[in-house]
Amino acid sequence: MSEGVLRLSVFLGVWLLLLIAERALAFAHNPQPFARAGRHLSLAVLGTLLTRVLLPLGAVGTAAWAQSQSLGVFAGLAWPGWIETGLALIALDLAIYWQHRAMHALAPLWRLHRVHHCDLQLDASTALRFHPVEIVLSMVYKMAIVVALGAPPLAVLIFEIVLNATALFSHANLHLPIRIERALSWFLVTPAMHRVHHAPDVERTNSNYGFCLSVWDRCFASHRGFRYHPDADGFGVAGLHTDERVIALLKQPLQKNG
Ligand SMILES: [Zn+2]
Repeated sequence: MSEGVLRLSVFLGVWLLLLIAERALAFAHNPQPFARAGRHLSLAVLGTLLTRVLLPLGAVGTAAWAQSQSLGVFAGLAWPGWIETGLALIALDLAIYWQHRAMHALAPLWRLHRVHHCDLQLDASTALRFHPVEIVLSMVYKMAIVVALGAPPLAVLIFEIVLNATALFSHANLHLPIRIERALSWFLVTPAMHRVHHAPDVERTNSNYGFCLSVWDRCFASHRGFRYHPDADGFGVAGLHTDERVIALLKQPLQKNG
């Protein structure tokens, strides 16, 4: 099975499971799940196409190239493959945590990232709602980290699959039993934990940056736990008027307020 088919199969499988779970355990009323999914999918397809054109090697291809050139930290260490794979997975997740913090801290990057944040509702499809330029920049960053590490291609492939699946999960419109939230949030970013990150006020938005492992927020003092009540204050970016058409979302980074 090719890398693309494997990634797409897992992605669609996880999304389908979450669509079913969101029906049974909805956190908030979601009147137009399919219209939202269509818009967000359009952004994701545009981002993927742009990335394919500009960076055809991709993250896994870059890892294979770096390995063939003996580049990166692991090339010098020559540790057993399973140790390198495990460490690369952890290091990549840490790198994505810091990338996410930078997207919030630096004004031009926030203009791009707020397209994701101005969603007034959350469901698994929000995980696809990124400006295509942010997707390209994320790939450039990931490729640089992969080369610096000399990450094994298998680790990068696993990471891509796991990151997609956990992002779908953490954005899902799920009201999980509190015991499950508590238990999972010790090591994974859960939907309730990530809802805090999507709150409209800056204080809460600038916390809970993790996408997959929750440990980084605990390590770097950005952990705010989760509010476990269905009466959330809503989501979005305070003061930002949101036009939900795809074309408007593409142009939104040029908008000044928010
Ligand atoms: Zn964010």
